[in-house]
Formats: sequence, structure tokens, C-alpha cells
Amino acid sequence: MGNDASIDDCKSHVDALLSDRSHSKLQETSYPSRSLHFLGELPSNSSKGLTQEAKVKLNVFVAGAGLGGLATAIALRRRGHTVTVFERAPELGEVGAGIQVPPNSTRLLVKWGLLPYLQDQAIEPGAIRLRRWQDGSIIGLTQLVPDFRQAFGAPYLVVHRANLQLAMYRLALDLGIDVRVNSGIKEYDAETPSITTDDGKVWVADLVVAADGLKSEARKVVLGGTDQPPEKAGFAAYRAVVDAARMRSDPDISWLLESPGQNMWIGDQRHVMTYTIAGGKTFNMVLSHPEDSDPSTWRQETAVEDMKQHFRAWDPRLTKIISMISSTLKWPLLSGKPLPRWVHPSGKLLILGDAAHAMVPYMSEGAAMAVEDGAALAEVLSNVETREQVHSALRVFEKTRILRTGQMQEASLVNGKLLHFADGPEQRARDASMRPEVEGKRCVQSANQWSDPMTQIWTYGYDAEKEVARAWNRSRGDVPKL
Ligand SMILES: Cc1cc2nc3c(=O)[nH]c(=O)nc-3n(C[C@H](O)[C@H](O)[C@H](O)COP(=O)(O)OP(=O)(O)OC[C@H]3O[C@@H](n4cnc5c(N)ncnc54)[C@H](O)[C@@H]3O)c2cc1C
Repeated sequence: MGNDASIDDCKSHVDALLSDRSHSKLQETSYPSRSLHFLGELPSNSSKGLTQEAKVKLNVFVAGAGLGGLATAIALRRRGHTVTVFERAPELGEVGAGIQVPPNSTRLLVKWGLLPYLQDQAIEPGAIRLRRWQDGSIIGLTQLVPDFRQAFGAPYLVVHRANLQLAMYRLALDLGIDVRVNSGIKEYDAETPSITTDDGKVWVADLVVAADGLKSEARKVVLGGTDQPPEKAGFAAYRAVVDAARMRSDPDISWLLESPGQNMWIGDQRHVMTYTIAGGKTFNMVLSHPEDSDPSTWRQETAVEDMKQHFRAWDPRLTKIISMISSTLKWPLLSGKPLPRWVHPSGKLLILGDAAHAMVPYMSEGAAMAVEDGAALAEVLSNVETREQVHSALRVFEKTRILRTGQMQEASLVNGKLLHFADGPEQRARDASMRPEVEGKRCVQSANQWSDPMTQIWTYGYDAEKEVARAWNRSRGDVPKL
């Protein structure tokens, strides 16, 4: 149940339970609980509430063929809508090497039939190990295999971004989605709705969904002319890869490749996340550090040297790997705040993905949120009976998703604080709270948000389709207030 569960929900559940002399009203709770989860596994309940085919079929344009746009296109097409994707770039090519795909996202991707398109390119790490900056000793431990599949019904994967995008693109084509590269949108008419592409052509649809990224142009239109772009979070990340074969020949660091896993060194204002991608051939690194200056002043020529300086006194095994990096890309880290709306008052243009909810990457959930957005949009639209209900459905979608993604923006910022304590009392208390999980003891709470049981269930157990379907049922077709 989402956090917006109301007293009315609680009352109606209590009424239903009191009037029920059998088990037939035992379906869900208004309080957070997984005690009834097993009921969903029964054959008669397994697809309850999730309509496959939309009754009202729409002609939808999606702006942007990033991970958010492609996920949305796939989710909508699977429900029977006609979908065209417009992408400004001349070809698809995600940059930035690896990406983590957590179970709240993989559960949807598996359902959509994406995994065969990834072949053996995705890796399932066994655990996330948090390591002390100075000597690499393990201070936090999240067991992913087999725990995450068992708890959340889907794997935690890591993969090269380009492989994930290509897999989504191929699935989109096989589903009959028209993906047009070299087709930038220069204007949105939210009332018709229509778009004008860079070549001056005007295209008319029933609904326009803009997944056009951090610098979204559609966001300003949705917000009525005044943009609310994401803000600098005070950090930047170097992204780099190292050839795993080179690491294997050095006994100081080859142990990192013995089994697939994520290793993260954490220290004062900085951390380094690592894992292998490309079927184990490439060691992926994201090195986060404080940075407030304007990206236009950054110098690519000195990036590798600057990066080494940031981590020079860290664990010698880590600095040895860093010394193998020959080139790096530096990215500013931005965070948005929950926006007042995602849907234009016309009810015919909306934003999602990074355009709507940029976040710092410290929970590894930005793209996962975009996948959830696509799934939730397709689900809510599949519940409408008439075209007149589409706008109400979009408002339900918007309300549900602004809360979920706003809380994930918050959780990502919280993780940044937790990972970045300087040595001192807070760091020692944090490390003490993570000790039981390192010692293999049962953990009821942890400063490690990947391990903390409540944060885990909220993050990875979240079912984007069910949550929006429940919200739609609660709204009974009324337009909810934001
Ligand atoms: C360092 C770092 C690490 C990260 N790690 C993770 C992780 O491990 N897991 C995770 O889930 N997330 C992670 N993220 C977040 C994730 O990368 C983003 O949330 C995600 O890629 C956003 O996808 P999107 O489709 O919304 O936007 P984008 O990827 O920005 O795609 C937008 C697309 O729209 C196109 N476009 C823009 N304007 C127009 C126009 N006018 N007309 C047509 N096309 C247009 C662009 O060319 C682009 O292809 C990380 C981010 C960073 C910076």
C-alpha cells in the first residue's frame, strides 16, 4: 500500500473484513504489510487487477529513445496502443558504461520479455560490499544472491547501458513500435496534441509522452511556461572502465573478479562504486566526489589526473585500479524536487523519466523509476473504459508517481549523506549499525539502505502496476487533487 493510503481505505477494509465470514475479502491491507503476498501466488489471483489489453486504444507519441522512453513505448505497446518514438540523436548510443538494474525494474523487464534480448550480457552480482575508504575492509554487506530473488521475485542485475538500450530497442521493434532516430521535436502543442519535428513536419496524436531527459523542453510546456530544472547537488561523478584481463594478471586486485559482486569504497564526501559488466570483460567504476563548479569550466585533458588526486590516500588496492584508467568522463550530479505536476492541464501531454524526476544516482534507481513510470502509465490507461476517462487516469498516474519518485529523490540524497561521513562519531555509529549484517547476523535495521529491511521492501518490493491500479480504484474515476 502506498503512503497516501487514507482513513477511508482503512475504514472500507475494516467494513469488508467485519462483513466477511469467509476469506474472500482478504486481498490487501491499508497498512504496509507483505503478510498477504502469498495470495497473489494462487493461480486464481495471479493476474487479478492487471488488465492486459487496453479497452481504449490510443495513438501515442513518445519523445526520446533513452531508457525511459523505450520502456514507456514497450509498456504501452504491450497493452495494444499504437506507439511512435521520436529521438533527436542520429543513432542510439547510451554513454557512461554500466548501469544497475534493481528488482523493482527487472520484475517488469522480465514480464515484458526483455531478458532474452540481453542474452548473456547482464550479470547478477552476488552481494554489495561497502568497504572502508582507507583499507578496503568490509563494513557493510547486502547479500543479493539468493536473497533478492527470493524476497522480491526478480534479480538485481548490472549491465552495459548500451546493451540494455539496444535490447529495449530490439524488443520495441519486434512489438511493432515505430522508432524514428534523427527526429528531434522542436515544438509541443499540448492542446491538439501535436508535435513539430526539426524538419518542420507537424504530427498529430491522442497523447504525447515526453521522456526527453534532464534538459527536457516539454517540462516547461507542462509547467505552464516556467521551467523547474534539476539543481546541482554539489557532487560530480567520474565514469570509467578498466580491462578486466589486465586486472586478472595482478594478484593484488584479481580477487575482485573471482565472483561477480559490487564493491563500494566509502569515505569523507567521496565514494567509488565498482562492478563488472560486458559478461565480466570490463570493470566498471563510478567515482563520486564534491564538485560545485560550472561544468563548462571542466577540462577533459586533466580529468584523469584530477580523479587520481581525489582518491590518492585511499586503499592502495583501489588506487592501483584507478591508476589503470586511461580515460574518463565527468558528469555533474543533479537532483530535482517533486514537481507540482507532470501532466499538462489539457490532459494530452505529460513528462516522465529524468525529465520529471532527476535524482542523484546514490540509490541506483533513476532509470528504474523511469521503467516504473512506463509500466504505471500503461497500467492506469488500461483501466479506462472511455476516452473521457483518460485525463482522470493521467491525474491518478501523476499523483502516484510524484510521491514514489519524490521519495526516491529523497532516499538518494539520504544515501549520499550516509555514504559520505568523515571519520568520527557519526561514521563509527553508522559502521556499528552495519556490523551485524557483515557478521551474517539477522538485521532488523541498518544504515546501509540496500540492507535495511524497511527500505528494501519499499524500494525493491514496490509494484508500480499494482500501486497505480489501486489508486485508480480508490479514485473511482474522480480527478484526484495533487
Ligand atoms: C553517474 C550515474 C550513474 C547512474 N546509475 C544508475 C543506475 O545504476 N541505475 C539506474 O536505474 N539509474 C542510474 N542512473 C540514472 C539513469 O542514467 C537515468 O535516470 C536514465 O538514464 C534516464 O533515462 P531517460 O530516458 O529519462 O532520459 P535520457 O537517458 O536522458 O534520455 C532522453 C532522450 O531524449 C532525447 N531527446 C531529448 N530532447 C529531445 C527532443 N526534443 N526530441 C527528440 N528526442 C529528444 C535524448 O537524445 C535522449 O536520447 C545513473 C545516472 C548517473 C548520472
